[in-house]
Amino acid sequence: MRHLSLLLLIFITASKPIQFKTDFDANFESNALRINLAFAGNKDSQEIYLFSLNKDEFYGGSQNCLIDTLNLGTYRCNVFNLNKELLFRRGFCSLFEEWQTTEEAKNQRKVFNQSINIPYPKNNCIITIDRRNFEGIFEEALRLEIDPDNPNIAATQASEIPHKTILKNGTAKNKIDLLFLSEGYKADEMGKFVEDVKRLSNYLFSFDPYQSFRASFNISALCIPSQESGVSDPQKGEWKNTALKSSFNTFYIDRYLQIADPLTLANYASQLPYDHLIVVVNSKKYGGGGIYNHFSIVTADHKLSEEVFLHELGHGIAGLADEYYTSEVPYENYFNLNIEPWQPNITTLIDFEQKWKHLVPDTIPIPTPNNITVPIGVYEGASYLKKGVYRPAFDCRMKTNEAEGFCPVCQEAIKKVIQQCAN
Ligand SMILES: [Zn+2]
Ligand SMILES: [Zn+2]
Repeated sequence: MRHLSLLLLIFITASKPIQFKTDFDANFESNALRINLAFAGNKDSQEIYLFSLNKDEFYGGSQNCLIDTLNLGTYRCNVFNLNKELLFRRGFCSLFEEWQTTEEAKNQRKVFNQSINIPYPKNNCIITIDRRNFEGIFEEALRLEIDPDNPNIAATQASEIPHKTILKNGTAKNKIDLLFLSEGYKADEMGKFVEDVKRLSNYLFSFDPYQSFRASFNISALCIPSQESGVSDPQKGEWKNTALKSSFNTFYIDRYLQIADPLTLANYASQLPYDHLIVVVNSKKYGGGGIYNHFSIVTADHKLSEEVFLHELGHGIAGLADEYYTSEVPYENYFNLNIEPWQPNITTLIDFEQKWKHLVPDTIPIPTPNNITVPIGVYEGASYLKKGVYRPAFDCRMKTNEAEGFCPVCQEAIKKVIQQCAN
């Protein structure tokens, strides 16, 4: 009850001054403003800085749904006009917040880059980046006053990199545009890259909700040539000269793939409209990664690459949490067990009403014992924790590669994202 009244109070005070103004043409151009940020700090501190601004040719997001109401992500980007009316909002996550939970962050300060794409404002505006505190409440972490006519906003140069359209169902503003980018493919390996993208896409559309919403997607493959074939593998001492400088062994986890410089990724991606970026790495090794509304990354040629791709895109597109809890992932204090986490597919049972309680039949005990297998229950163990965090199903693609696709709760969460973005 205490939590409920506190939340209600915060909702009333926070929501009162905000008015929504969502007329795209009155407020935005069809270009994108790319806000290149730096997240810096250590385990206990975090600051967000503006690194640079770009004017990109395309904004690929919806022009009808400018205010993201899904309330997902550790961060959100807001655009206000000078009358303090909210024009745009989008949630996202960062690699920095994951790093903060590692051993290294206890002893070292570090900086991570990340770019946020918003539609290009027509008028002077205020852009803020909010970050959730440990209690889950958004607090302002960065405030920018933007003059869209500022001559130092760098116009992104057109590039000569070829691309291939894999699936086209409509214009970018009405569809979810998945942009696949090649990494570790030499110029003469682009035929393989395009086939890899087709294979991954076909796998994606064989699982719901993607199968049912195939017509909501566009897919393109951007053929960025690398000097060398393959990918850097630090545990083997192998370093490759690749376009996006990706490598395994992120945070000393061998299978965790990331790219060294997300700004380079954003520069390449700027030549096409997109909602989500997916880096395909030309490697046989098992690995991948996915960060909500940042990008997803996966290797092409491991026997489980398709399965890993579906899992990582679950993080990247819908902010889904990992449902596994036995792993080498050494994250500490990832969750505040005294609040309900924002991730749609896990619960601490603090406020289960807002999660999937309506889907659990009255006959199913909460929590659900492991010896009862039901399609939707409340099983203890998720997000690297054996105790205190619960998942909806005994198995799900967010838990294992053997699961038959997503559990009903994950399917519902992805469906909500599709319905919001493709409109
Ligand atoms: Zn995962
Ligand atoms: Zn699930």
